[in-house]
Parts: sequence; structure tokens; C-alpha cells
Amino acid sequence: MYGAIMHAPRDIRYQERDEPQIIEPTDAIIRLSATCICGSDLWPYRGFDNVHDLAMGHEYVGVVEEVGSAVSTVKPGQFVIGSFFTSDNTCEICRDGYQSHCVKRVMMGTIGTQAERARVPLADGSLVATPEMPPTDLVPSLLAASDVLGTGWYGAVAAAAGPGKTVVVVGDGAVGLSAVLAAQQLGAERIIAMSRHEPRQQLALAFGATDIVTERGADGVAAIKRMTGGLGAHSVVEAVGTQESMMQAIRSARAGGHVGFVGVSHGVSISGTELFGAGIHLEGGPAPVRRFLPDLVDRIWRRAINPGQVFDLTLPLAEVAEGYRAMDERRAIKVLLQP
Ligand SMILES: [Zn+2]
Repeated sequence: MYGAIMHAPRDIRYQERDEPQIIEPTDAIIRLSATCICGSDLWPYRGFDNVHDLAMGHEYVGVVEEVGSAVSTVKPGQFVIGSFFTSDNTCEICRDGYQSHCVKRVMMGTIGTQAERARVPLADGSLVATPEMPPTDLVPSLLAASDVLGTGWYGAVAAAAGPGKTVVVVGDGAVGLSAVLAAQQLGAERIIAMSRHEPRQQLALAFGATDIVTERGADGVAAIKRMTGGLGAHSVVEAVGTQESMMQAIRSARAGGHVGFVGVSHGVSISGTELFGAGIHLEGGPAPVRRFLPDLVDRIWRRAINPGQVFDLTLPLAEVAEGYRAMDERRAIKVLLQP
């Protein structure tokens, strides 16, 4: 089969790879219906992580082709959605809702789903099947649930978004935009999207943002303070992962407020003194997407939400290298790849 390999920063190739095989009895093999490029894939692409010859991709929807002897809840022929960490969904950590930290988790990024087929470990605890084969137009939204929607949703939940709350979203990538959608679905009163890119502002507004703030850094924080009576927001979602975005998020939250940080952290250091003084709740990290998947699939199936709008470029999987370029140059918010 064919798939994407990152040979070195900015060197993505579509090339022949070994066919996936059942290794553990808890594995499933899926044929990808769609996959995509993640904002976090840009970190190694830009040379921030030291990688070479790495199979890329961790977002996936597809049809089950084969299951191991211990798999009982998913069957060949089913359309399934999974996320970037597999989980048994039975250990204590999973039962507490933190499946991305499952004691048996396997990182799908080490398997590489920008490919025609993929092995999914812990299939029973990781994959959620749709009620039937989805119509084609729902596939992008179901794929969004695999990572960006689930991650944005977790960011909003960790930030305690809900009725009566003012929610700020730092970051206008697909995760930030999905967090806007999540905050709207969770009933937030006011949703402030921090974005300086016109097409992304438009999508934020379509997803439920009530306000747009274009300033960033200290000016952005000052704007949020002005809009919230000098107090800061109840809830802030951080969806970038840089020093600037993290501090913008923490400083935009009011005392007693919640920050959900879901941008993959790179080079962030936080002053203990400042954190002590802020008096905020802080929760984040890799999102336990599996916790939210059944609910997200249900909302998509009922067409209550259309998170697939984050995909503004669709390419054949063979053109994966162009997809990386488009996202790197911010010509595309998120690229859907068709095997
Ligand atoms: Zn577990």
C-alpha cells in the first residue's frame, strides 16, 4: 500500500509502505475513507521535532476490513472513527474519562494514518462505529471528530464553557475553530474568537463566535479585559501551544476562571509566581477524544453540527506533500486527504 513518509523537515513523500497486519488479537485493520493533516504535523514539518523517515498521520475514519480474535464490538464492514491515542476504555484512567492517558494507549502517530490502510490497536476500546455507512457529505465532519473537533471540545470542557460563561478562544486553527463550535454547543453566553485572518473569522462566526478580537499578546489581553469589565473571561481555550498563546490564555482568564490548553506545547515555560498569582484552574494536554466521540458522532449524524467546514482543501492522498505546503503557508486551514 501507499502512504506518507516524512523523510526530513519539509520532505514528505507518498511512497510504498508495508501492508498493515493484525499483530495483537485486539487489533483491527481499517481501509481509510479519509484522513487529514494536523496542525501538530507542522511541528516536525517545520523542523521543531527531530524526525526522519516517519510514517505520518493520526486522524482517521474508514471501514473495518479485518479484526483480531479478541475484538468483539467492531466488525468488518463497519464505518468507524478513532482518535490519535488508542485506549482500552476499561482501565481506571479511561473510566475517569482520560482515555488519551490510558495505561495501554498506543499513539496512532507512530503507525501513520496518512495511508491507504492502517492497523488500529485496542479496537474495541478505541473505535466508534456509525449507525450505518455514512452519506459522503458527512465524512469530513466524522473525520473532524477524530481529532480537531474532539480536541476543541475537550478544550472547551476543560475551560468549563457553559451557560452564562464568557469563553475566549486563543488560536484560529481547526482546533480553535472547533472549540468555538463546542462552546456554542455547550451553551456559552459569549464566545470571543482571537483571530486576525478574515476567512477564519468568518468560520468562527459561523460556528457561534459572538465577538472577534484581532489583537494578540498584551494588546489581546487588554482587549479581553476591556470586554469583561476588567475581570477577564470565565473560560479560555488555548489552541496553539506557543509561549505567547499560553500566556495570552492565562492572562485573559479571570481569577477563579478555567483555562483549557490543548495546543501541543512547544517551548512553553510558565512562571510559578505568575501561576500562583493568577488563581485559575488549568487543565489540558492531549485530549481524551474517545470520551466525547459517541456524543460527537451522534450530533454529526443528526446534522446538529457541521464541523467538517474546517476542511477548506481536499486533495488526493498522493498529493500529501502539497497538502503540507498549503497548511504550512496558511493557504489552507485544514487539508482532507482522499486515499
Ligand atoms: Zn485505559
